Amino acid sequence: MSSPSITPSVPPRTQDVLVVGGGIIGLVTAWRSAQRGLATALVDPEPGGGAAQVAAGMLAAVTELHYGEQTLLALNLASARRYPEFAAELTDATGHDLGYRRCGTLAVALDADDRAHLRELHALQERSGLESEWLSGRECRRLEPMLAPGVRGGLRVDGDHQIDPRRLAGALVTACERAGVVFHRVWADRLTVAGDRATGVVTADGTVLEAGQVVLAGGSLSGRLAGVPDAVLAPVRPVKGQVLRLTMPRAHGPLLSRTVRAVVRGNPLYLVPRESGELVVGATSEELGWDTTVTAGGVYELLRDAHELVPGITELPLTETRAGLRPGSPDNAPLLGPTALEGLLLATGHHRNGVLLTPVTGDVMAHALTTGELPEEGRPFTPRRFGAGAGAAFAEGTGAEQGPTEQTLLTEQTV
Ligand SMILES: Cc1cc2nc3c(=O)[nH]c(=O)nc-3n(C[C@H](O)[C@H](O)[C@H](O)COP(=O)(O)OP(=O)(O)OC[C@H]3O[C@@H](n4cnc5c(N)ncnc54)[C@H](O)[C@@H]3O)c2cc1C
Repeated sequence: MSSPSITPSVPPRTQDVLVVGGGIIGLVTAWRSAQRGLATALVDPEPGGGAAQVAAGMLAAVTELHYGEQTLLALNLASARRYPEFAAELTDATGHDLGYRRCGTLAVALDADDRAHLRELHALQERSGLESEWLSGRECRRLEPMLAPGVRGGLRVDGDHQIDPRRLAGALVTACERAGVVFHRVWADRLTVAGDRATGVVTADGTVLEAGQVVLAGGSLSGRLAGVPDAVLAPVRPVKGQVLRLTMPRAHGPLLSRTVRAVVRGNPLYLVPRESGELVVGATSEELGWDTTVTAGGVYELLRDAHELVPGITELPLTETRAGLRPGSPDNAPLLGPTALEGLLLATGHHRNGVLLTPVTGDVMAHALTTGELPEEGRPFTPRRFGAGAGAAFAEGTGAEQGPTEQTLLTEQTV
């Protein structure tokens, strides 16, 4: 990505908005921006790629609740509420089926420790006014007969749904194209700044792209774009996740009818069954910089734990193993809206909830791009909450000094 500095040889192209990064977050921002009448361009060598190619697609505002993340919960819930309308609008605009399923989630416990942990989560959910129902082990198995006999109890959360993130990404590319977003399929090498304002980027092929506003939506790479002043660098780090894909035979009906999740030996595990017959099993969580290697240990642990939860999975064909990078932030919440550098906005740091947060991010960013301010629901997520220079300090402490290579970012491993 970073190439020696290139002297621009072509005249600049000017847009109202230039989005750097065409993962689902950059795409939804560009789509909403174009819909608001702003001339919008997007730069990414592979729009529609990124973490959505790996993600499970759980829309899990309730079962993803963690202590200390109540502010994030409000945004997660706002986005979950918007999903039905958002999915319908995107399907109308593109004709794409998004694999959106309102099938609910069952979070189960396999031993006494897990059960105690799940009881605490249930209490926290109730204190937060969320809907979830405690079930005995027998009631869990009545809902999902393929669960292991040892399941001790669980939480039924009918409001946590799922979508296929690959289809979501593909639909957003089409929606952007139809809304008139201009795609530049190339890396942005560096941000250009004139005086104290961001003015655009120079791409890897030397093209100068100018814009009134630049949105940095580079996922885990958001803190790496050259030319961004230290004071406004995004404090974002890569958090690796390995995921398996298996195929459920159609003949015997679905192995599972809803998302099933658990914590096994301290490791969060989920099985997400799609209508297509795909079963997604994930995910590891590893702080290893920009490493997207699929490891024997990662695959082994996922299969071992998934087998403990649903013994029948060992009969299924294993069709894909893959690793992706979540864009993690210091408080696990996204960074949305204007930075201290005029003309530069961020839409990044969505960590493990980027798929869930896609609809609300589009709305918040469209508001910020058209008014210069964050709407009420977006205000807690201003990048300014971390203070000037947080990104530079953060990069030093993440073990992510080893920069990524194009190879690691585009790696796909299929068995
Ligand atoms: C294993 C795993 C499981 C997950 N499961 C879920 C889940 O169940 N539910 C959920 O809600 N979320 C989930 N997520 C999280 C979700 O996938 C991410 O939060 C989301 O996809 C991030 O999207 P993004 O667009 O911000 O970043 P990315 O997807 O990383 O996209 C960033 C894009 O920017 C481009 N880019 C970066 N720098 C430049 C540059 N200089 N020039 C041009 N282009 C650039 C890259 O090419 C890339 O296409 C999961 C993630 C992983 C890894």
